[in-house]
Amino acid sequence: MSQEANPFESLQEQIDDAAAYLDVRGDVIERLKNPERVLETNLSVEMDDGDIGVFRAYRSQFNGDRGPYKGGIRYHPGVTRDEVKALSGWMVYKCAVVDIPYGGGKGGIVIDPSDYSETELERVSRAFAKELRPLIGEDRDIPAPDVNTGQREMNWIKDTYETLENTTAPGVITGKALSNGGSEGRVEATGRSTMLTAREAFDYLDRDIEGATVAVQGYGNAGSVAAKLIEDLGATVVAVSDSSGAVYNPDGIDARDVKQFKNETGSVSGYRDTEALTNDELLTLDVDLLVPAALENAIDGELAREVQADMIVEAANGPLTPEADEVLTGRDVHVLPDILANAGGVTVSYFEWVQNRQRFYWTEERVNDELERIIVDAFDNLVEAYETHDLPNFRTAAYVVAIRRVVDAYDSSGNWP
Ligand code: NAD
Repeated sequence: MSQEANPFESLQEQIDDAAAYLDVRGDVIERLKNPERVLETNLSVEMDDGDIGVFRAYRSQFNGDRGPYKGGIRYHPGVTRDEVKALSGWMVYKCAVVDIPYGGGKGGIVIDPSDYSETELERVSRAFAKELRPLIGEDRDIPAPDVNTGQREMNWIKDTYETLENTTAPGVITGKALSNGGSEGRVEATGRSTMLTAREAFDYLDRDIEGATVAVQGYGNAGSVAAKLIEDLGATVVAVSDSSGAVYNPDGIDARDVKQFKNETGSVSGYRDTEALTNDELLTLDVDLLVPAALENAIDGELAREVQADMIVEAANGPLTPEADEVLTGRDVHVLPDILANAGGVTVSYFEWVQNRQRFYWTEERVNDELERIIVDAFDNLVEAYETHDLPNFRTAAYVVAIRRVVDAYDSSGNWP
């Protein structure tokens, strides 16, 4: 994976690319390219052996024109200030493209969670929640899970916030366990929107998803759910990977069974009847659909020249560098952008928040139906912009739709000095 592209610069480039097709003042666009504020803090936490561990952590509140800041918290050793800023900006445009009433935010802690015990991770999470307390709130900023965080961390953060505020406020964070105010359908939501985006794109491009071959890079929450739901549409998953490497079988890999294998053994490597590949080999397989579902910058300009897939649906955030985008556009490889394809996560987070505020909970069927309506509508809006403005690719179309919505909200509010 190339680490060359700075994700924050990639985001700014994507905004500029789309702004070229919009009649919006340059100073307004400049404002939309930078976060409103970024918290940088160092968490001091007592470790199990009595020593103090110090962990750098960030929360970026990028833009709140359309509603409270919204976005996940990532635990990863590679977290940087610029990465968090980029991820928070992508959240702004993601919420706008699916038209849910949120702005964008993101947080991260520089930590490899596999190096720490559960009690240490709880203390780290609660220390971060204490730092976040003045910034977050049901109507202010609503965190959620991201890479290496899930229901457990969300429950800890909610509990810390509620204890310190002496209240109950389940809507302060989403992605919680069902027993703690979570929503049906949240765990599968990101993979579900990836599947829905792939389904709509195949249909729009007059291609049959039944019988299509699929490779999935990154077999965590987003990737494994996308794989099984795309398999349910009749496609054949031929390769999957995680940080241990990739496995390939041209006759197909059972998406659910390989997940079960990963749960039991810790990785997809060594799965039965498969050939081992490197991650780069997976990304350049001759498949109908490639789903990058790991981290940013998985495909750079050089690798993009080797990509043989006909279509890429981005489950991960920012898996393509701007150079890769340019190469793939030139080669007529259709890329369905992250801000649509993985927007299911934040959309069902929105449903969770609505349910928390109303204290009335929906069935999984209702969640999935509402999600499908939102993703299909967003896809239709994106295609309309793509055709009307004769845009070079679907990413630019998504940003054109999203930036327009953010600018409309800003313009209609006026500017408070
Ligand atoms: P996860 O931690 O559950 O899974 C990530 C997977 O990627 C793991 O299997 C890991 O082994 C693998 N991986 C890491 N580096 C890799 C590499 N170099 N090559 C191949 N595989 C590699 O995380 P997730 O929640 O599934 O998130 C994955 C991506 O989806 C991230 O970009 C995240 O921001 C994005 N996303 C997730 C959600 C969500 O709700 N989970 C929502 C929107 C976007």
